[in-house]
Amino acid sequence: MAVRMCPHCKSEISAPEVAARSNDIECPKCGARLEVAPGARTIATLAGLAAGAIAWRLSIGSTSDLGGVLPTLYAFLAFGVVSPLVLMFTANLRDAPLVAVAEPAHAPSPAGHGAGGGHDGGHH
Ligand SMILES: [Zn+2]
Repeated sequence: MAVRMCPHCKSEISAPEVAARSNDIECPKCGARLEVAPGARTIATLAGLAAGAIAWRLSIGSTSDLGGVLPTLYAFLAFGVVSPLVLMFTANLRDAPLVAVAEPAHAPSPAGHGAGGGHDGGHH
């Protein structure tokens, strides 16, 4: 089984960890930063969408007062449950890129500064 394995020290990363933090996983053994390969994430998303569609189709037949709301709710729940589950079992890990995803630093708003206290350091 080569899933959820650290490419450096070959130790296995726990499934909940992978599902919860697919963008920024840290190997418990060697501390390497890892992420779920994009392919696995796509599969998980598609599976979640499929599950949501199925749940929607199933629940839309039920006639109740909440008939308009429940299918959407079920679809949402199915997606939320199935997608991370699939991710747990399909995820391949790879090295996370060293450069962290750049935060949108300055929103182009004319009346920008003045609000925050500027207490977060680490800005070069
Ligand atoms: Zn490792």
